[in-house]
Parts: sequence; C-alpha cells; structure tokens
Amino acid sequence: MRDETRLLHTAVDEQPFNALTPAVHRGSTIVFPTVESFLARHTQFYDGYSYGLYGHPASRNLATQIAALEGGARSLIVPSGMAAIMVTNLALLRAGDHVLLPDAVYGPSRSSAEKFMSGLGVDATFYDPLIGAGITALMRPNTKLVWVELPASFTMEVQDLPAIAKAAHAHGALVAADGTWASPLGFKALHHGADIAVQALSKHIGGHSDLLLGSATVASEELYRRIKDASRFLGLGVSPDDCFLALRGLGTLAARLERQSTAALKIAERIAEHPSVARVLYPPLPGDPGHAIWQRDFRGASGVFSVVLQPRDDRHLSTFIEQLRLFRIGASWGGLHSLVAPVQLEGARTVSPWREEGPLVRFSIGLEHPDDLLEDIELGLDRYGFHREAAAE
Ligand SMILES: *Cc1c(COP(=O)(O)O)cnc(C)c1O
Repeated sequence: MRDETRLLHTAVDEQPFNALTPAVHRGSTIVFPTVESFLARHTQFYDGYSYGLYGHPASRNLATQIAALEGGARSLIVPSGMAAIMVTNLALLRAGDHVLLPDAVYGPSRSSAEKFMSGLGVDATFYDPLIGAGITALMRPNTKLVWVELPASFTMEVQDLPAIAKAAHAHGALVAADGTWASPLGFKALHHGADIAVQALSKHIGGHSDLLLGSATVASEELYRRIKDASRFLGLGVSPDDCFLALRGLGTLAARLERQSTAALKIAERIAEHPSVARVLYPPLPGDPGHAIWQRDFRGASGVFSVVLQPRDDRHLSTFIEQLRLFRIGASWGGLHSLVAPVQLEGARTVSPWREEGPLVRFSIGLEHPDDLLEDIELGLDRYGFHREAAAE
C-alpha cells in the first residue's frame, strides 16, 4: 500500500473504549457490510443508522434519555426548540386545517402561525391562556392541533393542560405542549394529556448557554414516524458534539434546577415586598394566580420569573436593568449565568390584553450566590424607587 492510500485507510482500533462518558461519532456516511444491507438502508431511518443526517449514537442516546424523562415512547432531536415546534406543525397540519395557540405563546411560534403557516393554508386562532375547558367553544371540525405552553415564557400564566386536552381530544384534535420552563424534570406534559411534549434543550438541559437543540416526544410509534418524516424531509440533522453537550447537561440538570429554583423562590419572596415592585410572577409563590395548578401538575420549577415594576418611564426602566451588576441583558434562560430581559408586550397579545400598568422584566437565576443576586436586584429596585420619589417632588 502506498502512502497516499494509507492516508485514507488507517487501521481502526476495534477494542472497546469503555469511557464513563458517552461516545461521540462524527459522520455523514455510514458504511454497510453487504450490497443487500446498503440497498435496504431506508429500513434504518427510524431505529438504526443509515446516514448521519438521520441519527447517530449521540442523538439516539439523547433521544432515549429525553423520551424516558418525558415519560414518552420516542423522542426526536432537532436543531432547536423552534425546530421542534415547526416540525410538529408541519407534520400534523395541512392546508385547510385549523390550529389553536395560547395568546401568550412563545413569540416566534406566534409569528410563524401569522406569517408562515398561514401561507400554507393553515388557519390559526389565538386563545386566552387561562381558558381551560372553555376551549371547546373554539374547536372547529377542522381543528387538528392545540398548542399549550406552561407557564407562559414572560407572563407566567399556568395553563390547565388536563382540561384543555380533554376538550381537544373530544373534538379529535391533538395537543402539543411546550414545557421548556420546568424541563421534563419539573413537568411531564404527556402525563397530563399532551400528545406531543416539546422542549427547547437549548435552555435548562444544555444548561450552559452554548448549544441549540430541541426535542419532540410522543407516546406512540405512529406519531413518532410522522414527526420524524417531517424532520427528514426538511433535512434537519443535529451535531453529535451538541448532543454530547446536552447529554452532559442532563447529568447536572437536577442539581442546577434545584439550586436555581430555591434561589429564585427566595429572591421572588423578598423582592415582592419592595415598594418598586407591583407584582412578582412566579407560579411557585403561594400568592401567584397559577400556584394551584402548578402545585397540582408540576413536580418542580426553574429559576425563571418575571416582575411587574411600578409604572415609571422607559429611562428609569433602562437604568434599573443596565445598572444591575450580576445580571447580563439577554434572551434565553436556564444557563449558569443570571440574565435579565425587558419584556415588550405591546402588540404581542390579541385576545387577552395584558392589564398591568408597569413594565415587565424577566429574570433567569443562574448559579451565582443567591444573596449576591438578591442584593443586586434590591439595590436596583432602590434606585428605581429613589428616582420615582425624586421625580414626584
Ligand atoms: C427558547 C424557547 C423556545 C425556542 O428554543 P430555541 O432552541 O431557542 O429555538 C421555545 N419555547 C420556549 C418556551 C422557549 O423558551
């Protein structure tokens, strides 16, 4: 064998490498031992390996873990949480169908209904997230899918999934639930009536703000094949390295969420009493409007909550947010670092107007010391209040 050939045909060491950590195989081409197995490679789409786009050991390991955590049968891993939402829509909706979405749904999901699915002939109706069994009145003969998101990413309403699912199923519609806030550790949507449980793995499961992945988990093989086919025809593959990072994130998920939820509850309780704060929106707080349903259906929480400040002008809001020392301004949540985001709801809701007068700010509590975070927010709230009194003089 000449050098040029040898360069391409390195001997592969076949001894098992029994690392404690999962394997990462990078690969597009899969090789087959026989002509027959190559020609039958399409039979490997759903379970085996036929081409890197359709699955590899890291994506299959991650899918198995997520399916088990969600209490489902099969899970599909896709490049983002948004991809999980869209694969679900594109797998289950056809021209002439009708879909229902909560008014407080994740923004890009709302835009996709208004600006993309509508072009494919799918009609969307937005509904009050607190509608419960009242959703029956909105069901049409062509309603094929009902989305729920709980709690809502900014406004934290906790939807009554069992009541909505019962009504949807009575009309022959499927129910898809976005349960990213609590992760499947804190909320198992399939146990409460959802047919499809969607997660943005980019958030708590990745846990380090350094990857984008999503999952859609279902209880039946038939439904799995429908969403898998949509993902296959869209050409959606996932990086083995990102799946490895998500698998690694799973190992610390429980510890991170416990720490972040405990810190968030402490901070939420304390700042609720601050004069600059009109309301804290966090379902684990006993006074929260969503607390009863949260207690009934959830096993845990996360460190994400929102605060309605007393009404002030935009400049005071910007100063409050920008002068926080430990909270970086940014979207997303669930990482190691605490984040803060101003929320603009103007135009974001059409059927259940947001009635709070003051500005809404969302916090994602990270792994910094809870007392440092509390002091930082309290100082900020003092400054916000000081300006208010000064302005009144
Ligand atoms: C972030 C998020 C998504 C989208 O996930 P990406 O991975 O960022 O696309 C969907 N739903 C909710 C509730 C989210 O917070």
